[in-house]
Amino acid sequence: MGYTEYIKPKNLNDLLNNKKETEGRGEVIAGGTNLIPQMKEKVKSPDFLIDVCDLQELSQISEENGMISIGAGTTIADIASSEIIKSKSPILASAARQLGNPLIRNRATIGGNIADASPAADTAPPLLALEALLYLESKGGGQRDVPLDKFFTGPNQTVMKENEVITRICFREPASPLHGSYIKLGLRNAMAISVVSVAVMLDVKEGVCRKARIALGSVAPKPVRAYGVEKGLEGKELNRDVIEASANEVIKDISPISDIRASAAYRQHTASVLLKRAILEARDRGVK
Ligand SMILES: Cc1cc2nc3c(=O)[nH]c(=O)nc-3n(C[C@H](O)[C@H](O)[C@H](O)COP(=O)(O)OP(=O)(O)OC[C@H]3O[C@@H](n4cnc5c(N)ncnc54)[C@H](O)[C@@H]3O)c2cc1C
Repeated sequence: MGYTEYIKPKNLNDLLNNKKETEGRGEVIAGGTNLIPQMKEKVKSPDFLIDVCDLQELSQISEENGMISIGAGTTIADIASSEIIKSKSPILASAARQLGNPLIRNRATIGGNIADASPAADTAPPLLALEALLYLESKGGGQRDVPLDKFFTGPNQTVMKENEVITRICFREPASPLHGSYIKLGLRNAMAISVVSVAVMLDVKEGVCRKARIALGSVAPKPVRAYGVEKGLEGKELNRDVIEASANEVIKDISPISDIRASAAYRQHTASVLLKRAILEARDRGVK
């Protein structure tokens, strides 16, 4: 074709129709902060761009019966400033505040961050620790939900089908929202892709860990849950010895590579150091 045609659906139904009609040749564009650079570098050359950035149905944050729902087109800036997110899932608000810079956060969406499936995506570890579900929809295929843990299959690869779009991301309000921590290590403090990132959510009662959900970014081909570390913490009193021993087990859950930002050995070491720090922070937050 040689040029890219721009389509602006008026509602979700239009979007699903457009996606089906352009199957294999059309790409959803939300904030464009990943897609436009990829098009400039000719990594992607879609014949059609389907712009979702003004779709009201995709940009709501709501809470009902303890379930938080975030429309896929919600911007990172709106997530960072949402009262619902700040009070019910502060680790996600924290990750949003640390993504990119103000210009990027005003354009970038949570759906684009997840659909791009970068191992370094900032919203992925907190959403994994919150056990988020993604809602995918397609014309003719209806709606299905996929646990985020099953969504990523590798770097920039997911189980999403060609004609599907992410409509929303949902999770249950954690038992103790304050007992959480998100730590991102980059090569500098702002405007940096993570070298290692860790997200921790704990349910702690009288010093004992009833539930632990832990996830990391930039230490494997996809953002990962640290199931071994979670097991090592659950049912135990969260003292320094238990935290140290469990955090050291993280090397069994990760498989970092060396790249321009850090060596595999550095990432392995840093993952357990940051994890210890994050577990301590999560344990002590909200304690009067
Ligand atoms: C300068 C700069 C700094 C950055 N810093 C960070 C950072 O610190 N941390 C970080 O994690 N990322 C960072 N990014 C990457 C990017 O900004 C984020 O991943 C952002 O969230 C992408 O969202 P978007 O709406 O712009 O996605 P887009 O570029 O619009 O889309 C990305 C991909 O997702 C698909 N997509 C979008 N929405 C949907 C949907 N609803 N359903 C199905 N598919 C969809 C698109 O088709 C496309 O393939 C940075 C980018 C830049 C340019």
